[in-house]
Amino acid sequence: MLNFEYYNPTKIQFGKEVCTRLGRTIQSMGCHKVILIGGGGSAKKNGAYEQVVTSLQNSKIEWIESWGVQANPEIEKVREMITLAKDFNADAVLALGGGSVIDSAKSVAAGVFVQDVWKLFLDLNPIEDALPIFTVLTISGTCSEMNSSAVVTNAETRQKWHIKGPALFPKVSFIDPIFQASLPWRQTVYGALDAMSHITEFYFVDERAETTLSINESLCNTIIKMVDRLKNDQEDYYSRASLAWASTLAFNGTSGAGLGAGDFALHGIEHAVSAVQPDVPHGAGMGVLFLAWATYCMDANPRLFDRWAKQIWGEDDARSGIEAMRARIRSWGSAVTLRELGVQEADIDEVAQIAASAKREGFVKRILLPDIQAILKMAL
Ligand code: NAP
Ligand code: FE
Repeated sequence: MLNFEYYNPTKIQFGKEVCTRLGRTIQSMGCHKVILIGGGGSAKKNGAYEQVVTSLQNSKIEWIESWGVQANPEIEKVREMITLAKDFNADAVLALGGGSVIDSAKSVAAGVFVQDVWKLFLDLNPIEDALPIFTVLTISGTCSEMNSSAVVTNAETRQKWHIKGPALFPKVSFIDPIFQASLPWRQTVYGALDAMSHITEFYFVDERAETTLSINESLCNTIIKMVDRLKNDQEDYYSRASLAWASTLAFNGTSGAGLGAGDFALHGIEHAVSAVQPDVPHGAGMGVLFLAWATYCMDANPRLFDRWAKQIWGEDDARSGIEAMRARIRSWGSAVTLRELGVQEADIDEVAQIAASAKREGFVKRILLPDIQAILKMAL
């Protein structure tokens, strides 16, 4: 088990109608003028927006709204929202949505303090200054609601890069699983695959971190069980709630304690895929790429890969575990090849170059340009 620091200052309000407390919470933290950031409008159809604005009104919080954040969010939109936030003198940022909206909101919160927000992504210094961030989560998977990172794409340079730092932990995140009943089925699956990928980015690093490995196995098994249940009844509140909480725990520090900074070569590759093909949902990409990465890397730590196969998939060896996972992803109706996601052979070189330039070389096995190319070809 490696040395570690465990720090997570985000307060979570979890459960039915927790957003009725949003306005009071923001006010109690001394904030009065909020920029509310949203996506394509799903929050206006499932009751989340209505509950949020009622609560803001009741606590006399002033706000402006900026909608239109897309999945795989772009820095141009972030720049536009920074200008709005500054003109309004916002003293806090409120994200209403999923990872794309929350990551954009985090970038706005940090971006109001600098000349050029993209420079923060290039410099990669820890973010120490940001407006207070509040989130209302409408899709679970990324854990952006309880971590200190944000990922945004620069469409011009085709870089999907991240920022990280203590100021990016949301002050309070509100998770009401009811809002997730309106998710299209495929989005539920993408979120679950992303959460599982956060666990597996840590899991294969070191077999001596028994507490964390056991927690991670339990989280993975819970996620799989809850997705299976939701497939039969998408409005099953308790399965939604368990899936939501497992997804938060999958990337809030819990799944990585004692496992260093994790591996994350695979996230680097997926970010390059969705930088080149912005229509690829992050979770779907992670599901496909994991199958190839695990096949490519399993010999680097056979005991842990075999353990994963046994504990998660009930199989005797890594190869059978990977096949069981492939079958389960198929049974959920999600892609198991990059082609199904619209990525062509002709895209591979560019994707590989972009991924290699991010210099996420991994830990389980060192992943350089030729390895990235091999993994992408296997995933095609
Ligand atoms: P998302 O991109 O935020 O949302 C995906 C889709 O789900 C959107 O079309 C959204 O529609 C819809 N949606 C959200 N909530 C809904 C609801 N309750 N009902 C119906 N539709 C709903 O998905 P995400 O997976 O949470 O975020 C993905 C992004 O996060 C990627 O860019 C990924 O790279 C990044 N990420 C960040 C971290 C991190 O630590 N910060 C970790 C992993 C991934 P609307 O736009 O209409 O709401
Ligand atoms: Fe992810």
